Amino acid sequence: MGIEIFAGGDVDAIEKGASGLPARRIVFSDGQELRGDVVMPFYGLAPNVDFMSGSGVDMERGILVDGRLKSSIDGIWAAGDVCQIWSSALNGYRFYYGYRNVRRMGEIAARNMTGETVDFEEQGDESLQIDDDGLLHSPLWEHD
Ligand SMILES: Cc1cc2nc3c(=O)[nH]c(=O)nc-3n(C[C@H](O)[C@H](O)[C@H](O)COP(=O)(O)OP(=O)(O)OC[C@H]3O[C@@H](n4cnc5c(N)ncnc54)[C@H](O)[C@@H]3O)c2cc1C
Repeated sequence: MGIEIFAGGDVDAIEKGASGLPARRIVFSDGQELRGDVVMPFYGLAPNVDFMSGSGVDMERGILVDGRLKSSIDGIWAAGDVCQIWSSALNGYRFYYGYRNVRRMGEIAARNMTGETVDFEEQGDESLQIDDDGLLHSPLWEHD
């Protein structure tokens, strides 16, 4: 799969491509155009952790938690997009997105808060698939 990186420029429109051409036509404000089968906007979203400043809880881009979703301070747990979970396989913290992961985190944090010892495990594969018709699918999209 060829990937073209186009830096800079404001997108004016994303339109359906003409018959026989790639599925999408992207028009920039300076008149330049790109064509491609899939357009994937990424906005660099970051969790809002401002309310935790001064709490003493360890943070990077999110709240750092161990595999049981406990933060660096006893009695404080985190679940959802806001937390970065320790992964011993990666030897580092990482985010897990999507409703399946987030729902599981909520359950695990609640169970561990109440005395159980349950480790978080990623819920399914987060990779995207493109089918024979050029349509994009993700195991995390509810319509799939
Ligand atoms: C554009 C987009 C599309 C997505 N599509 C999919 C998809 O198709 N399938 C999928 O599985 N996942 C999808 N996701 C990811 C999914 O939405 C998140 O993983 C999930 O919503 C995270 O749940 P959460 O409860 O952790 O956080 P959120 O759903 O973000 O909820 C956090 C809540 O806390 C509130 N809040 C923030 N700060 C404060 C504060 N200081 N005080 C009080 N309240 C506060 C916010 O207003 C918000 O209501 C998508 C995300 C985005 C941004």
